[in-house]
Amino acid sequence: MKIALLPGDGIGPEILREAVRILEALRSDGLKIETEEAPVGGAAYDAAGDPLPPSTLALAKSADAVLFGAVGGPRYDTLPRDKRPEKAILGLRKECDFFANLRPATVFPELADASTLKPEVVSGLDIMIVRELTGDIYFGQPRGITGEKGSRVGFNTMHYTEPQIRRILHVGFRTARQRGRRLTSVDKMNVLETTQLWRDIAEEIAPEYPDVELTHILVDNCAMQLVRNPRQFDVLVTGNMFGDILSDEASMLTGSIGMLPSASLDANGKGLYEPIHGSAPDIAGKGVANPLAQILSMAMMFRYTFGLADVAGRVEGAVRKALASGLRTADIAAKGAKPCTTAEMGTAVLKAL
Ligand code: NAD
Repeated sequence: MKIALLPGDGIGPEILREAVRILEALRSDGLKIETEEAPVGGAAYDAAGDPLPPSTLALAKSADAVLFGAVGGPRYDTLPRDKRPEKAILGLRKECDFFANLRPATVFPELADASTLKPEVVSGLDIMIVRELTGDIYFGQPRGITGEKGSRVGFNTMHYTEPQIRRILHVGFRTARQRGRRLTSVDKMNVLETTQLWRDIAEEIAPEYPDVELTHILVDNCAMQLVRNPRQFDVLVTGNMFGDILSDEASMLTGSIGMLPSASLDANGKGLYEPIHGSAPDIAGKGVANPLAQILSMAMMFRYTFGLADVAGRVEGAVRKALASGLRTADIAAKGAKPCTTAEMGTAVLKAL
């Protein structure tokens, strides 16, 4: 298992360090893990004038999985667009063809109070959103703004090819198979032909997965159901734009950005694993960031790239145990409670493991 470690900027190196301690423990337990680190984002710009230097890209391409911290910071905001740290993520997605984004929204019972929704609605929540990343209205042509002021027209094109739809739906079905075996496909087929095609193809593929129950839901209803009764869902699969919006909505059900991992996969299961949050410049260098999103991203790597659900489960169980012991970083601590440091949380997970 060759893993590329790309710490990035801000809190990236601090939280990745904690995940690496766990990787090392798993390695001494007998897992054959090889790691190599490279700079990415602002750190790579500082070192090599490029947020995604060729050597970093080559490492990412040669690895089986990429464990990514976070990139960005105010220092880099005035750089030309192609030199900005965020360009590295887009570059990695494009060069490695990471077309499937997996974003879980999980609420550990210990943290149910952190949500703005009632604890009884979200406690134990465990859903996965599978979002297509390379097509849809974000990339469709033609696009633009034409005409004279006063009568201008803005237009974009929702566009999906059958192969694009098929491959993301297969990821949805396979993901459901690894979880609760229920797949909900999200579309807007009552208005948009592109998503009628999406629904038709989902129905065509379904017989290949007789053990997975497929249902369909319109995106507006889905947005509503996510706040009304989110626990009804197991895996949601959808296009780029609907997925963008729904995955942010779902992540806020959990109420804690420092807890949420994500994966971006190619067609062979290779993936880039990263927390959904950014580099948090406001707390960088203070040793107080929550490392759990990063550690849970690593757990996802074992499940989705290496097919080691038992190892993933062990890491997730250790996170749960650390939380059950009462430890909280500042972002998830109750008012007035004394928060722990990044390293203390990492140590607690390591001990529990
Ligand atoms: P952010 O996610 O970095 O931070 C938002 C808030 O959440 C901040 O108050 C931060 O302190 C807090 N937070 C985030 N992660 C935390 C953690 N693990 N533990 C405790 N608190 C945490 O978003 P932002 O402030 O909008 O962006 C900061 C920089 O990150 C920008 O340069 C942005 O472009 C970049 N960014 C990068 C990624 C990525 O690398 N994938 C994603 C989003 C934003």
